[in-house]
Amino acid sequence: MLCPHSAPLSKLGPMEINQADEEQHMSQRGLRVVVIGAGMAGILAGIKLQEAGIRDIVIFEKADRIGGTWRENTYPGLTCDVPSHHYTYTFERNPDWTRHLSPGGEIQSYFERTSQKYQINELIRFNTEIEQADFCDGRWHLRLNDGTVDIASVVIAATGVLHQPSLPSIVGIEQFQGSIFHTARWDHTVALEGKRVAVIGMGSTGVQIISDLSARGIEVSHFVRSPQWIMPVENGSFSEAERAAFRADPQLLNDAMDFEGYAANVERYTQALTDPGSEGSLMIARACRENLEQNVTDPELREMLLPDHEPLCKRLIFSPDYYQAIQRESAQLVRDDIACIEARGIRTNDGVLHEFDVIALATGFRADQFMRPMRINGRNGSDLETQWAERPIAYLAISMPEMPNFFMLNGPNGPVGNFSLIDIAEHQWAYIEQLMDRIRGGECTEICPTQDAMNRFDTERVAAAKKTIWYTGGCDSWYLDSEGVPASWPWNYSRFVEEMRAPRWEDFDLVFREAA
Ligand code: NAP
Repeated sequence: MLCPHSAPLSKLGPMEINQADEEQHMSQRGLRVVVIGAGMAGILAGIKLQEAGIRDIVIFEKADRIGGTWRENTYPGLTCDVPSHHYTYTFERNPDWTRHLSPGGEIQSYFERTSQKYQINELIRFNTEIEQADFCDGRWHLRLNDGTVDIASVVIAATGVLHQPSLPSIVGIEQFQGSIFHTARWDHTVALEGKRVAVIGMGSTGVQIISDLSARGIEVSHFVRSPQWIMPVENGSFSEAERAAFRADPQLLNDAMDFEGYAANVERYTQALTDPGSEGSLMIARACRENLEQNVTDPELREMLLPDHEPLCKRLIFSPDYYQAIQRESAQLVRDDIACIEARGIRTNDGVLHEFDVIALATGFRADQFMRPMRINGRNGSDLETQWAERPIAYLAISMPEMPNFFMLNGPNGPVGNFSLIDIAEHQWAYIEQLMDRIRGGECTEICPTQDAMNRFDTERVAAAKKTIWYTGGCDSWYLDSEGVPASWPWNYSRFVEEMRAPRWEDFDLVFREAA
């Protein structure tokens, strides 16, 4: 087959490999692995690939720094709602977390340190975006934004789930004369002290920003179209003595991470999501209701903050202080719908003009994008846009039919929720490694799931998704696809762990092709 790019091909040179490694390199049949994205999952892939002895690796990163979500989100109050010691690679524990729930900046530093320690930066080509991937002659031909083409035997898409901001289409938004930006594009040149600030949106992001600005005494208005349930949580500090003890005794750190306890918690949590009437689900609902009742004293405000859907239907917000924050003198809750934005502020449907200097759009992300807008053309005329015409789908969230050797970390239909995506990516990596081993062992040169396996998985997944509280709970959220079906993993955590343990080989199509 003549590849569309074979004429102008300018293959980028493989990484330098020394003589001693060369034999091993050859025995791997020249396996060249391209990773897309240098966020949490891309860094993980880089580390694991090197650990597996693969030498020919390149990570393409569209930005000029690593970090993904933690590089892009820098809004005030940014905090991870997964406990610090669980939002950590299992192989790179961190005794130095200062808080039980880490601030975003600390997480970004952790990834930068880890990247440096494992020499990941040397593998990365920054400021480089892949625009198109074509599978031809048994390899992926990747067209880059600088006009060159790279070639890979295996592609790992570690592009993240929530990276394309969802901008609201509010009439007159371009008329605003003050500063306006999406929360993932926070403009730090704008000082907030002494300014009137509006925050639109009550997801985890909006809630964290309100908590931070209100605590700083900044005059802030929260525009909330749909109030969400909030689970109370404490966010204590690790003292210097505790951190010193973690550094001195790795076992202590191990105990703090308590992976078994963590897994049991996640299992209970996913059980609550997938079985809306279960004890766990009712317990969480009770805790959210009590949080609102006990912490918001004014009945009118309490009513304004009362969600119209079941707790857990939207991704649960964990916050130690939002209710306190919104009750401060400097904070205001606005429930009237936004009619338009004008030069001086936001006009609500009741005709009132609320004047502001700054508007922050905490309006979330386009969760259906994954590696798009990259165009991907697989085998036998298959392409991503056709496969994803109805909704993004992937067999076990990892791979797609007719897209050989193309594997995703945190791809569509995977577990997302109030638990560690690092843990999820590590399990997925263990699975992907087994697929790659078949290629490395010479048993095949191309591996992808069969169409039958994909269809079976998706039928089961959709049926299960319709039983989850995301579907039955009566709310709209970014978990739902364009047809209103939850896109995330609809089963318990234990099923995910079990599925990731070993591929069902009968679900895969293995092809051996002589080198072109
Ligand atoms: P989100 O959960 O999607 O919330 C978006 C908010 O914007 C919703 O309240 C939505 O209201 C509102 N909105 C959207 N368009 C609007 C419009 N035109 N007018 C008025 N309101 C509008 O987004 P997010 O808070 O950025 O969070 C996204 C996800 O990021 C979270 O679910 C979470 O997974 C992740 N996150 C995690 C952490 C963490 O600690 N791990 C922190 C922050 C974010 P409706 O509900 O009415 O649509």
